[in-house]
Amino acid sequence: MSVVPQLDLSRQYQQIRPQVEQAALEVLASGRYIGGTWVARFEEAFGQYVGTGHCIACNSGTDALYLALRALDIGPGDEVITSPFSFIATAEAISLVGATPVFVDIDLASFNLDPAQAAAAITPRTRALLPVHLFGRPADMADLLALAQGHQLAVIEDCAQATGATWAGRPVGSLGTVGCFSFYPTKNLGACGDGGAVTTDDPALAARLRQIKEHGQSRRYYSDTVGVNSRLDAIQAALLTLKLAHLDTWNAARQRVAEVYDQGLADCPGLVRPAVVPGDKARSVWNQYTVRILQDRDRVQAELATQGIGTALYYPIPIHLQPLYAALGYREGQLPQAEQAAREVLSLPMFPELTEAEQDQVMTRLKSLLAPR
Ligand SMILES: *Cc1c(COP(=O)(O)O)cnc(C)c1O
Repeated sequence: MSVVPQLDLSRQYQQIRPQVEQAALEVLASGRYIGGTWVARFEEAFGQYVGTGHCIACNSGTDALYLALRALDIGPGDEVITSPFSFIATAEAISLVGATPVFVDIDLASFNLDPAQAAAAITPRTRALLPVHLFGRPADMADLLALAQGHQLAVIEDCAQATGATWAGRPVGSLGTVGCFSFYPTKNLGACGDGGAVTTDDPALAARLRQIKEHGQSRRYYSDTVGVNSRLDAIQAALLTLKLAHLDTWNAARQRVAEVYDQGLADCPGLVRPAVVPGDKARSVWNQYTVRILQDRDRVQAELATQGIGTALYYPIPIHLQPLYAALGYREGQLPQAEQAAREVLSLPMFPELTEAEQDQVMTRLKSLLAPR
């Protein structure tokens, strides 16, 4: 039986193996493992790619979110409106700075924050909107940016799954006040370990971000605020710089994979494909190709697994119903679209090197499982 993995990172490594190994060995031989030219060069290249004046590298996407919130002076007593349908890190960062996450429902068609729901949740304590560009698809930024402007709120973009995506032709991470990126290996631009970055056009905010990520030091050995240690390793910076040059090609390959699924699954009963809206300003980079299985999702996933087809559940429990947020008092049924998404989503194999033959296997098995009997 042949096997189709949900994700296979080794294929990309094989493709660029000589360059990756050379870059890693160069850093090892240099004796300079923290900071230095590799990190500076990556920050320069990534800032240019996103189109912001400043890029601050850090240890992870989670840290990027934490640093952004800290740099904006968001803390106890403040509220941040965000999506309940995301990886836990999004909300966790809000809690880590002592602020309160306010979860509002998503739009089931895009899996992203619904701007109308966000508007209804604004209170005098609201300081920021934190939309997530989930699965690579930019959130509805027109309405969110207008809302933020009208209420003087910061916009923190969680770009962890959307490196390279654009909205109305502009890269994510350059639309809001700050953009937060993850270079976790499974993201579109993945390191061989942890990594993250924050992008912004605001020089004062950039200075504050740098200070907080370097132990609160405004100059060497002089700290005037509580900071953290959040660094991108030199070796990861070197690898990310070389991988960045391939990112658009890899994202284009993901787009082709998505198109093959979209055509092949068009008439599959009981399955809803990711919405493709004509004239949509959001250009996805397909970190995931996530369908909705209207009935017995878990059974379908289990049967696919026995047939060698890897899939993933992003995410089986919406964040407002996670035990850690029980004290916030959300009830089941309160955010119905997010809860429905959690019940129905199934992420199919998706990575740039996935072959059409593999996709055919996935689709054939999926269709036969969903065929009326
Ligand atoms: C991966 C991810 C993060 C966290 O990134 P790490 O680098 O793993 O800390 C945050 N938000 C979303 C939506 C993610 O997918």
